[in-house]
Amino acid sequence: MSESRSALATIADAARLLAPCRRLLVLSGAGLSADAGVPTFRCEGGLWNEYDVEKLASPEGFAKNPELVWEWYRERRLRVAEAKPHSGQRALALLQEHFPGGTVLMATTNEDDLLERSGISQVIHLHGSLFDTACSGHCGWRSRDGDDNSLSMVPCPRCGAPTRPGSVWYGEPLPAGILQAITHFDPDGCLLVGSSCIVQPVACIPSEMAMAKLAVVEVNREETPFSPIASCSLRGTAKELLPGLVDLLTSRTVREQLHRGT
Ligand SMILES: [Zn+2]
Repeated sequence: MSESRSALATIADAARLLAPCRRLLVLSGAGLSADAGVPTFRCEGGLWNEYDVEKLASPEGFAKNPELVWEWYRERRLRVAEAKPHSGQRALALLQEHFPGGTVLMATTNEDDLLERSGISQVIHLHGSLFDTACSGHCGWRSRDGDDNSLSMVPCPRCGAPTRPGSVWYGEPLPAGILQAITHFDPDGCLLVGSSCIVQPVACIPSEMAMAKLAVVEVNREETPFSPIASCSLRGTAKELLPGLVDLLTSRTVREQLHRGT
């Protein structure tokens, strides 16, 4: 009982910090999708346990064994297609639509399409999309693949090089202009969900905001390297915590009360 009272108090604290924001950045990572049953990149289950994902998801890994990498991606595409958005992701869609007097920008390191399927528009995919197929050469061709992964089976239609998954791999730069899109939004608050924030350059976004004394609220089931500098950390899953937090933030009356400190 006391545990549930303290969890509610913490959600109110988080809402109080975010209530004055006008341009809220929601930055999400693997923990958000894990709640929907999508295996996290850093701890894949089942058949892929024996492989080092950092080697598979790299230009070198693809050059060494393209079929193995494609097999892994096709299986991930299938598992994501079978997953459904959960209450935490649907709550974020409500937040984007009903945040009174402000705008919400969604950015994620997740490559799945669960945020879009929750009803969120204009998701910035910092690490690309799981469903994109791209040229492994240098011609710049990329396209959304179909349910049958047909584009993964044929050479690049522009230059004839083999196709590869369109994700951003370890050691590769982010798509051009993607971090600038967040800078241009100029967020005055950040909700960091299910992200351990250990991969640069994405990790610098909430860190710089925290150093500038802007509100950064972390939602994570465990402590992360970012926790010590977060304005407030909520311990638990996005599925458990986001519906309550969004409920407070989307009520104009509650937001005004929180803002006044009553
Ligand atoms: Zn090409």
